[in-house]
Parts: sequence; structure tokens; C-alpha cells
Amino acid sequence: GKKLRLDKILAHMGYGSRSEIRRLVKQGNVEVGGKVVKDFGLQVDPEQETVTIGGERVEFREFIYLMLNKPQGVVSATEDTRDRTVLDVLEGEYVHFEPFPVGRLDKDTEGLLLLTNDGKLAHNLLSPRKHVPKTYFAEVEGAVGASDAAAFEKGVALDDGYVTMPAKLVVLAEGDPAAGRVSKIELTITEGKFHQVKRMFQAVGKKVVFLKRISMGPLLLDEHLAPGQFRELTEEELAQLK
Ligand code: URA
Repeated sequence: GKKLRLDKILAHMGYGSRSEIRRLVKQGNVEVGGKVVKDFGLQVDPEQETVTIGGERVEFREFIYLMLNKPQGVVSATEDTRDRTVLDVLEGEYVHFEPFPVGRLDKDTEGLLLLTNDGKLAHNLLSPRKHVPKTYFAEVEGAVGASDAAAFEKGVALDDGYVTMPAKLVVLAEGDPAAGRVSKIELTITEGKFHQVKRMFQAVGKKVVFLKRISMGPLLLDEHLAPGQFRELTEEELAQLK
């Protein structure tokens, strides 16, 4: 592996600010390869040398992969002057890895959002040429039925004239406007135009009133995660994504 400054390694792993870490090192709290070191600028290969801090082994890793069940009311950005962001939802955990959201969900959309600092993986998942399927659960005003499924299979023209690629609609429960009952559906799309799901329904004269992403490629939203909860991907999930 490559060598990095000791203070940089520890900062990256979330052990505090640079100055806090330098103090810890100078006070003799840090060992490299079993020996106390006091030089915070020491070049260390964290993959080869064991680093301990206060006797505890530092687990070095560069990349982080988090599955978030995005709650409504937060924006899919790392910074925002007005709104809470998906990074704020982490409440300080993992933020030293500087993760960012892979793609975007609307502020009022819930569900699966991958957060990572692995730019290459993010790029692969977002590349329009890869056509990574994304499945959404939605509640839609009005009766969604076979004619809508046929229209989405063929492609519908959005408000800007763009014609969507074939998408698969599954009607879980047909709504009844007279009874005020919404339709419940799943829609799988392989592209990611702005507000795509909402605009596809708009194209067939219907309104999405609840939207939640339940999968992205091989990755399924963990049903145990309530909105606002997150966890690291398992090794299996990560292997499937790569
Ligand atoms: N389609 C939408 O309309 N909104 C989203 O957040 C995701 C897909």
C-alpha cells in the first residue's frame, strides 16, 4: 500500500481534528508497529503497519458505503443553506469519510439512497449508458391500470417532449377516485430524468402523492431501516454492486 502521514490517516478515520490528533500523538497515545511514536508527520503504510490509539487498533479504510432510507423533507445534497441534507441525517457518524449521495431523490421522496465516497462506483451506477434499473413504490391519485402499463412500456412524452425508455409498471392495488382510494404501484425505470416518476404519471394525467425508492440495481432497501436510519452495506451487497 502507499504511505501517508500519520495525522492524516487518523483524521481520515475520524479520531478528531488535525490539532487534536497531533496532541494525542505528542502525548504518546499512538503506537505504530507496537512502538510509541511522537512524530505526527511520520509516513505510515496503514495497510502494512498496525496503528493503535490508546491501545485500540485503528481499522484503516478508504471507502465507505452506506444505505440510507432517506426521510421526507431532506435534500439529496451534501450542503444546503436552507434545508436539512442527507448528510445532516448521519448526525456526525461517518461524515469524516466525506460521503456523498449517489444520485438524487426529491425532497419529498423517501427510500433507498446510497451514500459513498467511492467516486468510481458512483460514476458506474449513475452512468446513463449502464441503464441501472431503479424501482419505486408510489401512491397515485386515480385508477392506475393496464393502459398506463402499456403506455409506460412503450414510452411516454414528458412535459419537455422527452420520450421515456420502456418502463415496467406493476399495479399492486388499483385505486378508486370515487372512494378517495389511491392506486399503489411499483415502477421500474432505467434512466433518471429530473422528477421522472412524477412526470411519467403526469404524462398519463395522474398525480403521484407518495414516492419511495425500493431498489437500485441489485441493491434493495433494507426493510428494517425506518426513514432516517442508515447502515453500512454488507460485503455481499457491495460485491453485487461492483
Ligand atoms: N422520480 C421522481 O419523480 N422523484 C424522485 O425522487 C425519483 C424519481
